[in-house]
Amino acid sequence: MTVNAPATSTRSEALFARAKAVTPGGVNSPVRAFRSVGGTPRFIAHADGAYLTDADGARYVDYIGSWGPMILGHNHPAVRAAVAEALLGGTSFGAPSEREVLLAELVTRLTGAERVRFVSSGTEATMSALRLARGVTGRKFILKFRGNYHGHADGLLVEAGSGLMTTSGELGAAAPSSAGVPEEYAALTLVSEYNDPAALDSLMAERGHEIAAVIFEPVVGNAGVLIPTPEFLAALHRVRDSGTLLIADEVMTGFRLSLNGATGLLGLEPDLRCWGKIIGGGLPVGAYGGRAELMEYVSPSGPVYQAGTLSGNPLAMAAGLATLGALEANPGIYQQLDRYTGQLAAGLRSAADRAGQPLSINRVGSMLTAFHQGVPDGSIATYQQAAASDTAAFAHFFQSVLAQGIYWAPSQFESIFVSAAHGDLELERTLAAAEQAYQTGGTL
Ligand SMILES: *Cc1c(COP(=O)(O)O)cnc(C)c1O
Repeated sequence: MTVNAPATSTRSEALFARAKAVTPGGVNSPVRAFRSVGGTPRFIAHADGAYLTDADGARYVDYIGSWGPMILGHNHPAVRAAVAEALLGGTSFGAPSEREVLLAELVTRLTGAERVRFVSSGTEATMSALRLARGVTGRKFILKFRGNYHGHADGLLVEAGSGLMTTSGELGAAAPSSAGVPEEYAALTLVSEYNDPAALDSLMAERGHEIAAVIFEPVVGNAGVLIPTPEFLAALHRVRDSGTLLIADEVMTGFRLSLNGATGLLGLEPDLRCWGKIIGGGLPVGAYGGRAELMEYVSPSGPVYQAGTLSGNPLAMAAGLATLGALEANPGIYQQLDRYTGQLAAGLRSAADRAGQPLSINRVGSMLTAFHQGVPDGSIATYQQAAASDTAAFAHFFQSVLAQGIYWAPSQFESIFVSAAHGDLELERTLAAAEQAYQTGGTL
């Protein structure tokens, strides 16, 4: 064996090179490109339970779970069987079918929403819910919070979260977070600071009569995990005094933090809610819903147009039904996820302490972010506080644990997601890898 043998290129490297020749940046969604942590993204060959296997045959304990949907673990037998059965009956009808009714009945039962409309992504869900709010109220403006991400519709790419925090750097005040978004669109989106009830109250006092809806992440995942304070939640509910609709974007938290999402966990009373991710069990599904009097404004019942060629797709409905059905049949999963993630948080805490690495952990149930900065656990509450994290220290952690077979989210400003397939063995491996990562990380 020669000492200076050139590193042989991996299949992931070869695939990434080919991908870059035919797809912008080599990926179909930006954070997958590993830009903020460096290195070559792993191309995944298959996934099972808590594990991803890449194109070179390396296995990883997965903490992304397809960015949230895979709460039961990958390749779950019940989901696979449901999709396989649906597949035998044809892949798309362009006409209503029974599975859409079954999933709508299940979602309304679990969430208390009276009507639900299925779309194919979280982006479509939030975009459509905002159109509905504008249609109902006859108002033009919407209000969102710094660092909250609601998908990539024009009017929502203003002060948006993770993918933009790590690709565009610092964001300007209420400026579009993307090229191609006209200032005129961005001007219809007002922005306030998350967890700042006084700022929200004063903005509402001044402009409330013009604001159709306030949209928010009830637990933020897209700036890293941020937890709303009770005072902030109270201020959110007060926006309705101005005739403004309150829209909880539960695309990430829905069916993850409880069977009724953050709404159930935190006792929220939103007018409209948006879902995605888990609702499709790994296939493309989004949804929005709420009280009948509001939702009946949607076409063909009402004047707010919204449509979709593949909406209610039978394979996607089957995956959603199997996933939500499994969660409903086994609600103990939520305690199991909470226990695992709590042990993970405690283990990271003590490993970082032993190594003298600054770390601040935010966690709700199976959502967790370990920010690389030396403030107490649970104290990071705003986008600006999150943005003060040491991203170089995070990149070291990420690469170190990746090399040890742990696939963490490739950005400091993301939540990780635990699944029901994660058990003692995975926890032990993860904490051993984290120990090594912190011990070898530079101290500040
Ligand atoms: C992922 C996400 C979206 C966008 O969903 P897509 O299916 O990626 O379009 C919207 N809102 C929140 C809170 C999300 O986490």
